[in-house]
Amino acid sequence: MSGFEMLKAYDFSAVEERIYEWWEENGWFKPEVQPSTAKPYVISIPPANVTGELHQGHALFVALEDLMIRHARMNGRAALWVPGTDHAGIATQLQVERQIKQEEGIGREELGREEFVRRTWAWKNKYGSYITQQLRRLGASCDWDRERFTLDNGLSVAVREAFVRLFRLGLIYQAEYLVNWSPGLQTAVSDLEVTYSEEPGQLYFFNYPVVGGGQIPVATTRPETILGDTALAVHPDDERYREYVGKMAQVPAIGRHIPIITDDYVDMNFGTGALKVTPGHDPDDFDIGRRHNLEIVNIMNKDGTMSSAAGIYEGSDRFECREQLWRDMTEAGLTIKTEPYLVNVPRSQRGGEIIEPLVSKQWFVNAEPMAKMALAAVSSGRIKIVPERFTKVWENWLENIRPWCISRQLWWGHRIPVWYCNYCGSLTVAAQDPEHCQHCYGEDILQDPDVLDTWFSSALWPFSALGWPEVTPDLIRYYPTDVLETGYDILFFWVARMVMAAAMFTNDIPFHTVYLHGLVRDEKGRKMSKSTGNVVDPIEIMEKFGTDALRFTLLTGGTPGNDLNLSLDKVASNRNFSNKIWNITRFIVQNIAEFEDDEAPYSIESMPHTVADKWILNGLSALTENSNRLFANYQFGEAGRQIHDFLWNDFADWYVELAKIQIKQDQGAAARTLQLLVQVLDHCLRLLHPFIPFVTEETWQQLKEACQSSGYSWLDTSRWPEALIIAEWPEPVGKYPEESTSFERLRELVRGIRALRAEYRVEPSRYISAYIAAGEASSELETQRNVLAFLARLDKNNLHIQADLAPPDASVTISQGDLTAYLPLADLIDVDKERTRLSKELKSVEEQINRLTKLLGSEFTNKAPEQVVNREREKLARMQASQAELLQRLSVLK
Ligand SMILES: [Zn+2]
Repeated sequence: MSGFEMLKAYDFSAVEERIYEWWEENGWFKPEVQPSTAKPYVISIPPANVTGELHQGHALFVALEDLMIRHARMNGRAALWVPGTDHAGIATQLQVERQIKQEEGIGREELGREEFVRRTWAWKNKYGSYITQQLRRLGASCDWDRERFTLDNGLSVAVREAFVRLFRLGLIYQAEYLVNWSPGLQTAVSDLEVTYSEEPGQLYFFNYPVVGGGQIPVATTRPETILGDTALAVHPDDERYREYVGKMAQVPAIGRHIPIITDDYVDMNFGTGALKVTPGHDPDDFDIGRRHNLEIVNIMNKDGTMSSAAGIYEGSDRFECREQLWRDMTEAGLTIKTEPYLVNVPRSQRGGEIIEPLVSKQWFVNAEPMAKMALAAVSSGRIKIVPERFTKVWENWLENIRPWCISRQLWWGHRIPVWYCNYCGSLTVAAQDPEHCQHCYGEDILQDPDVLDTWFSSALWPFSALGWPEVTPDLIRYYPTDVLETGYDILFFWVARMVMAAAMFTNDIPFHTVYLHGLVRDEKGRKMSKSTGNVVDPIEIMEKFGTDALRFTLLTGGTPGNDLNLSLDKVASNRNFSNKIWNITRFIVQNIAEFEDDEAPYSIESMPHTVADKWILNGLSALTENSNRLFANYQFGEAGRQIHDFLWNDFADWYVELAKIQIKQDQGAAARTLQLLVQVLDHCLRLLHPFIPFVTEETWQQLKEACQSSGYSWLDTSRWPEALIIAEWPEPVGKYPEESTSFERLRELVRGIRALRAEYRVEPSRYISAYIAAGEASSELETQRNVLAFLARLDKNNLHIQADLAPPDASVTISQGDLTAYLPLADLIDVDKERTRLSKELKSVEEQINRLTKLLGSEFTNKAPEQVVNREREKLARMQASQAELLQRLSVLK
């Protein structure tokens, strides 16, 4: 008898941090934990913004990626999860700017660029690891020694190298182009940083005067842009305006002459059918302008005020100008009417101000050649997107790719490696800071003040984080990576650009699989937002229910690519799952401790497995095979649900219960049963580890210690490794289809008897008799007599199992295929009392039937409203059904 004991209850708060540190100290997050011949399995983490605070999106991606990494590690792969953070240009700059403003009352312009960047680095060094600390708390088994930051030295080298190569190939160029301009932040922003909201606005109708007589009615939602019109366009088939095509129109208020052109793009049925074209302030108009070689007039300054091109409106705010111009046009008799109209307003994700489409000089990447490669990578099947339906979205976007604006008017980020020569005016583009102009050797050169879009550095992430452009041992061994896991919302911004960049710079795909997850919504399916007040903080959940409970809920709550609703009830029930695992382990550990081996000699080898033993082993094999298939298809949620159900419903509720009587039989049986309990639990903990790493590791360690300290050779754990995190993924343990079917039949029978006991409210302490006609299965069932009696609480002395038997009087029947069980009612209830009760009930029902039948046969049916009559008819039908049931139940009692 050994003395090893477990605490009564599982206390996750005392376990999680300790275990995480222990794993990390032992180097088990490193791919080197496997032999150097092991095949690598690599995931690059989506770099979290350094300004970020942990939200459910982080929790979901960590849970998913950690699951894949742990699963691969247990399958003998050299698993490497490369962690990192993103410098998040605009977000970080704003954060630091705000802090300096608050503490010192000065803006960044007053500090100067160099000092501001220095301060931002100081901020990053102080707060930048908050987010990674929180990722650790989720159990992320990243190799933290390989952590990277998108602005660190190595990645800066990569960014410059990429820029220079693209520039040399002519794929990076400078151009005037329409960008999303944020007048408040004074920078171009990416499409991702713009959100569109439907807001009530106006549709303004007015007449465009035609030079030489006549007018064309036009409608717009932004009248101030009239000042920047450089054409009027109508559909070539539009009879209404045919006479004007080729003539000139006159821009209201400023009098410029602009051509009247035709273009198929114009919708004859929308508005008046005539379109004012403002290439400088609208993306669609910009395209029309290019087709017709129209002039671009920029009427707006970068701060959102009107420029000199706006004539007398110069200097006024964009929205004031709208009002004033409309008043002036009304006075001039040009306006027709205004109508309320729902406008799709582009707003800045940060601050909410209205974004202006504005033409400015920016750096662009011509992504077309790379897009072709990225398209081929997916259409050829070299890269697989999970779920597959996103392949269509991928193709649609890449086939219509637009130039990518990569310059940002910020200070925090990778500065553009371009220098302008003040002497000869040429550009010097170089990976290393140049001393002089490459063309005239003049030393008076000035670096471009802009920085690169943060996505430019993230596009290089899978290979730059492994050392590219240097050919490092890590790059050789761990690139290309395996799976890229992220939210479907950044499929283009990030995933597509990584595939394009990898094709360009590494002549390879960066990963073979893209796994996309959805959004985490609240339990009612609403998007979590601070303004709705429905944000569920992952840290709070982890503190209340434990990390495993949160992870299991996120992992089993959804399917790939679909949004999932996070319910706290579900988290609570998954916390109970951790407790269940603890309690099962504790039961086994206790029984190992209580096993007495000094009574008489016993031999475990000579003890055959029981039917129940073989049934649980057969289930375990099926579960393992299913899990393997589901993991291979990225159906992690379904795998988790199946393992959960097996452990709880089959193992805990049935096998562990049965084990209690097997253990009581004799020592050989007890030893064999304990050995099997340990085997099945160990197996299940391995399957569950990628989902819920903490509770599985902790209980596995307890189980292992109990086995070791017992000293029994049949509980040999010498082949178990030091920790579950590095244990091997289990193999199926054999198939026993016959025993399994036989036990399932028994289980159905027990369920049937239990249901009847519940229906008749039989006390659990009461053992009842049973007569079972089992046909051909009778001898087999006879061998399970003890098990059946124990599980169904049958009186062993009055349990009759025969091939065929006559039903006893007054009994209820359970019929299952060729097996029929009869339970004498006298055991279930007091027959006389029940008969009296049922008769009384029947009498009352029959009285009501008589009353209702009379009522419905009378004048009532013609006089009363139809509704009332119908209600009485329904009542009668219900009473008749009750009557039939009562009669049936009474007939059994005879
Ligand atoms: Zn020069």
